[in-house]
Amino acid sequence: MTPHPLIAGNWKMNGLHASLAEVAKLGALYQPSLQAKIELLICPPATLLAGAHEITAAAKIALGGQNCHFLETGPHTGDISAWMLKDAGASYVIVGHSERRQSYQETDALVHAKALAALEAGIRPIICVGETAEQRQAGMALSVVEEQIKASIPAQASSKIVVAYEPVWAIGTGVTPTHAEIAEVHAHAREMLKRLLGPTFGDQIRLLYGGSVSPANAKEILKLANVDGALVGGASLKAQDFIAIAEAYL
Ligand code: PEP
Repeated sequence: MTPHPLIAGNWKMNGLHASLAEVAKLGALYQPSLQAKIELLICPPATLLAGAHEITAAAKIALGGQNCHFLETGPHTGDISAWMLKDAGASYVIVGHSERRQSYQETDALVHAKALAALEAGIRPIICVGETAEQRQAGMALSVVEEQIKASIPAQASSKIVVAYEPVWAIGTGVTPTHAEIAEVHAHAREMLKRLLGPTFGDQIRLLYGGSVSPANAKEILKLANVDGALVGGASLKAQDFIAIAEAYL
């Protein structure tokens, strides 16, 4: 069975204890009619996971981390393992976000190891891929995404994996690709997934679009072929905006 579309919120390095009120607001807005159609996920900073879990569990909202180490335990000061995220109530983790690829030089091999760790820990990795502005201008968008998918998706992947296409130049900029550009990359990514994982798993994996998704543009983006949801940054911080994006499916 193909899973519900996924609307995932990445809070990044935003949110203090008081922000749990926003999670509670989201819970109140996530009504059964919406629950029946889409899966809602928030990825707050690690400091808020345990507190958020008390709210999200009751509200049927999934919880995720924004990053994980590729090992389970050990001498890695400041790091958090996928097993720890699961222990705090997470069922997802974002890996390979472009901000981590850029700021911490994370490679496809490292993203692959993190995705594998997530699967071993029993949580679902959301593997982010996407080209820079320079790569798109050079006509390399499809080949960059293809390489990232090939190198960062574990071979033993199942439909538990989620892939997010996030063009780097669209993140936090208010600029989005054209609908044709999104559809082209998603069609190519789908073909890649089918080739790598076989037609069944390749078809079931949810392919999210991410990059400046807002209540104003969500409906048109989310109805494109092979777009199975969205990864949302800025617009996920306000419950009202985030739920408006999810309601694009109603
Ligand atoms: C993101 O960081 O994954 C993202 C898509 O951010 P924004 O929605 O703010 O562009």
